[in-house]
Amino acid sequence: MIPGPIEFEPEVLRAMGANTTSHVAPNFIETFGHSIELMRKVWMAPTGQPFIVAGSGTLAMDMAACNLIEKGDNALVISSGYFGKRFQKILDCYGANTTILEVAPGEVVNLEFIEKNLKEKSYKLLTFTHVDTSTGVKVDAKAIAALAKKYNVLSILDGVCSVVGEEIRQEEWGIDIALTGSQKAVGVPPGLALLVASQKAMDVWKNRKTPVQNYYGDWANWISIMTAYEERRPSYFGTPAVNLVAALEVSLRLIDEDGILNRVQRHEKLADAFRKAMSALKLELLPNTTKNAANTLTAVYYPEGIDGAAFRKKVSEYGVIIAGGLLPELKTKYFRVGHMGAIAPQDLITTISAIEYGLKTVGYGFEDGVALKTFQACL
Ligand code: PMP
Repeated sequence: MIPGPIEFEPEVLRAMGANTTSHVAPNFIETFGHSIELMRKVWMAPTGQPFIVAGSGTLAMDMAACNLIEKGDNALVISSGYFGKRFQKILDCYGANTTILEVAPGEVVNLEFIEKNLKEKSYKLLTFTHVDTSTGVKVDAKAIAALAKKYNVLSILDGVCSVVGEEIRQEEWGIDIALTGSQKAVGVPPGLALLVASQKAMDVWKNRKTPVQNYYGDWANWISIMTAYEERRPSYFGTPAVNLVAALEVSLRLIDEDGILNRVQRHEKLADAFRKAMSALKLELLPNTTKNAANTLTAVYYPEGIDGAAFRKKVSEYGVIIAGGLLPELKTKYFRVGHMGAIAPQDLITTISAIEYGLKTVGYGFEDGVALKTFQACL
């Protein structure tokens, strides 16, 4: 029950275990081409350019930065935790002149402050972490993208912990890049960097004055491959992760059959019920308001005086693995529970039950079963 890698659908795992065909075999060309088409639907970006490349979510961030940044470009990083800082480091690698807007854990950078910064300086792009996995905080993607558009700044959404779990209408909202890794709500084992770029972002890349300072991530190496697979022609740059792409096709098909917005709604419902269950135990959540709380994971402070490591060990004895803290300054003060992808109510019922057991055994007092009762009532 950690916030990625998540539990995967059996059908997805069967695709991982199937024979590995050639990357130019007709069946694989079809699988890859279809996955590209499905990405456009799931991302809600009918004219976007999808990229499917072997690597983790960080590679998708790296590709966005290396293809769009030229030395000396101004970039604005809107951070709500650990992964905002990572984006700053990546942008700096390519010589960006970066400004980072940061807040206390659990908060979001307010829109007026973002606008003030956009007014004061001319930026080429801005990045924001839709859901920061270190805090469970979600930002208003639609509003940030609208501000970026107003000031003619490219917008890059780090959706590693949000794509498929949170509402993202990439094209309608004018998001230039929406990127993720396969191992979270997309529902595929770790190993694929997934990114959809707007035509505007592609044009900015095409009109660069200087070469891309990265070999593997350069869109020049990948664009013809994506086009070829989509046109069902063989091609080669770097050997694709054949089984992961096969699994991706299955997972995206399942998401598309459900309907992306229905998927998001399911995440929302489970997240809401889980948060209420934690509140029923009188535990405090990291996000400072419900509006800022993610659908994909929940970050919860340990009760005062409780040894977090001992609590998590007790939870694991119950057969449930939850994550500890990630923000360096609060690492020992909170735990995180992922609730995305194939997670069903029964998984959360077991998790809540394990949390109650863990809390009780480390000496925290509460009414037996109150979290379970609250969760069930919410559903
Ligand atoms: N951004 C966010 C919001 C993340 O949650 C993560 C991974 N937890 C990353 C970026 C980096 O992804 P990866 O670990 O797949 O490189």
